[in-house]
Amino acid sequence: MSFFRVTLLGSGSNGNCTLIETPKVRILVDAGFSGKQIAERLAGLGLTLADIQGVLITHEHSDHVMGLPVLANRWNIPVYCNRLTAESLKPDLPKFKDWRLFRTGESLDLEDLTVDTFPIPHDAYDPCGFVFHRGSEAVGFLTDLGYATKLVVERVRASTVLILEANHDVGLLRADTKRPWGVKQRILARHGHLSNEAAATVAAQIVTDRLRHLFLGHLSEDCNRPELAEQVVKSKLEQMGVAHVQIHKTFQGNPNSPLEVEGPLDKETPEKGFPAEGPALAPRDYVSPKVSEPSPAVFVLRAA
Ligand SMILES: [Zn+2]
Ligand SMILES: [Zn+2]
Repeated sequence: MSFFRVTLLGSGSNGNCTLIETPKVRILVDAGFSGKQIAERLAGLGLTLADIQGVLITHEHSDHVMGLPVLANRWNIPVYCNRLTAESLKPDLPKFKDWRLFRTGESLDLEDLTVDTFPIPHDAYDPCGFVFHRGSEAVGFLTDLGYATKLVVERVRASTVLILEANHDVGLLRADTKRPWGVKQRILARHGHLSNEAAATVAAQIVTDRLRHLFLGHLSEDCNRPELAEQVVKSKLEQMGVAHVQIHKTFQGNPNSPLEVEGPLDKETPEKGFPAEGPALAPRDYVSPKVSEPSPAVFVLRAA
């Protein structure tokens, strides 16, 4: 049996963490809840942090790394990120050693998964998006970006499942009384976050016959509503005559149901389901972190 399972443990502007599972590996994308919260949400799936073999970090903002000290220090979970992100996280992880660094633009092999990494425009050190490939399936992560560059669209068009940011409703954000003007400007800027309308436009650019599931993620608690985001994106796709994509709401406070994506049967895959403890992951390229180096602009992109 071939498994490729995606579970959003929670998504929103106050915390993001997703579990990706195959028969050979279980990894998290971001760790934006407390270690305790992540453990509790994994427990709902019958898992513990000891079952996790790596955590990939999109960028260093707290809604993506809040639980990282617990995952790294207490559970010794390897951390996969680029060098600038690692450097910004190290002050909170002075003793942690198991950094698995990649250069944004490279592809990583994690057991039976290949992960494409690509840069996104956001106000962080070196923020990136991911596409996880297994067989003919591809799960894309596209949150925390001000707009979709041509490269971003090109990378995530391979997705059969896409987690796409729909951060705010522009009207609700403008009317919000909690956020000062400067913060609102930051959110609306080209290195900020996608509004519902912008998400709909990106979805329209990205949608292919292959895309089957679209999760609308990273919603602002104050300046958006799941129903509103869904309605804006849905009507845009309907206008285009797209009816084959299932849109999923996501939530800050609770996980989505696991989504099982079936890829073609992998001959090397054991048929027993998930191992209790998988083999250690080895990144294809390990780059020793050096603070003084300039940011490498290396793009070793694999053809999709
Ligand atoms: Zn975020
Ligand atoms: Zn961010």
